[in-house]
Amino acid sequence: MSTLERDELIAEVSRNLAARGNAHAFTPALEDHYRTSIARQRRRSVMAAALIGLMVLCAFVVHRTFFTDTTSDPIAFRRWLFTMAAIVAVAAATLAGAAVSRSHRGIDRSTIFGVIAIAALVTVSFRVETGDAATIGIYCWVMVPLAATNLTSLHFRQALVSVVSADAIYAAGLVTIPDLDPFVHVPALLLTISVSVMTLWGSYRNDRDHRALFLYMTRERLSAERSAEQNAALREMTTLDPLTGIPNRRAFEARLAEIRADAGVVALAMVDIDHFKAFNDLYGHPEGDRCLTAVARALTSAMRGRRDLVARLGGEEFVVLAALATPTDAPALLERLRRAVEKLAIPHATAGRAARPVVTVSLGCAVFTAMEASSQREAMERADRALYASKRGGRNRWTIYDAALASHGEAGLAREVDEVGL
Ligand code: GH3
Ligand code: MG
Ligand code: MG
Repeated sequence: MSTLERDELIAEVSRNLAARGNAHAFTPALEDHYRTSIARQRRRSVMAAALIGLMVLCAFVVHRTFFTDTTSDPIAFRRWLFTMAAIVAVAAATLAGAAVSRSHRGIDRSTIFGVIAIAALVTVSFRVETGDAATIGIYCWVMVPLAATNLTSLHFRQALVSVVSADAIYAAGLVTIPDLDPFVHVPALLLTISVSVMTLWGSYRNDRDHRALFLYMTRERLSAERSAEQNAALREMTTLDPLTGIPNRRAFEARLAEIRADAGVVALAMVDIDHFKAFNDLYGHPEGDRCLTAVARALTSAMRGRRDLVARLGGEEFVVLAALATPTDAPALLERLRRAVEKLAIPHATAGRAARPVVTVSLGCAVFTAMEASSQREAMERADRALYASKRGGRNRWTIYDAALASHGEAGLAREVDEVGL
């Protein structure tokens, strides 16, 4: 669902909630949404109702077939048996229709068809009875469509169609059944009418309550979805660098703070584009922006670990955080990053003395294990000093700060390596 569709739906739901007591008057779009949302639950109740009906009918058929005398009127018995088979077939068809329906419309159609067809067939079945059997039959069957209407939780309008058609078929049955005792048939009619009214009233209230519940739940769900999306957008705005699209300083600091003492070996590398001021001066600021984006992308694709991070600290400075298996993995990582930028081959006429000078980066790295808040700040300072050493050493190279030699000040910046040295 698009943001616009969702906003429209929220407005629609709010309008319906404001007009309380008018929950049956959903717009077609909301009605469709409502029926789709309850389709599964309705399918289950339709199937349950059809299954119960089938079981009762089967018990009835078995009793009639095996425990009653069927020899006195074999033709009537055969007609009765045939009608029962038709009822079972219709109930099974209803069941199958509801089971395979993909849309709520299919479930509705199969339910209404089932209720009305079974009502008609039951009427026919008792039309072949006479005397007491017909009387008892009428009392019994009138409950079938009414109970089915309740069990299948039909919507109010469908319940109205179902009950009115069932009542009409029933009345037709009463009129045509021969030898019907009026002392039986008048109370039976009254009983049918009162049960029909109760069924409709119950269906109206059920439907209204379900719809009100649906409105509240939909509003809650959609509002939660909307605020989750807004939060994600906000998070993106505050943690991504708008120019390059990679994480910004805030995201980097958050990730750095997340690194716990048990994080293993971590490499923190500062990356700075060489002679970038000259690049801007020579090619212009917009070209400089494109170069920054390309470098950001190259650095990001050079990283492999799921929890590694490349962020833009500001200007033409980037930072890389990577989890390493051992400290000896750092040189390969730094060389990969350095090469990734060099391989972009962005011409930079005033950079270095090479025959075809290109944009390059210098890197300074601090490798640490089990760090705490204070050593995180220290790691940044060390990486910065290592970067400074790379710049002083001629650029387009990387330097790893060697903790063992730290006490020797600048001499602590060991293992300065350039692309030729590796
Ligand atoms: P060094 O090799 O020593 O790093 O030299 P440098 O010229 O790269 O270093 P310096 O820090 O002096 O220059 C950074 C330049 O980066 C200055 C500024 O023009 C440019 N810059 C900073 N932010 C942006 C930006 O968002 N877009 C563009 N196009 N240029 C930027
Ligand atoms: Mg700089
Ligand atoms: Mg620079």
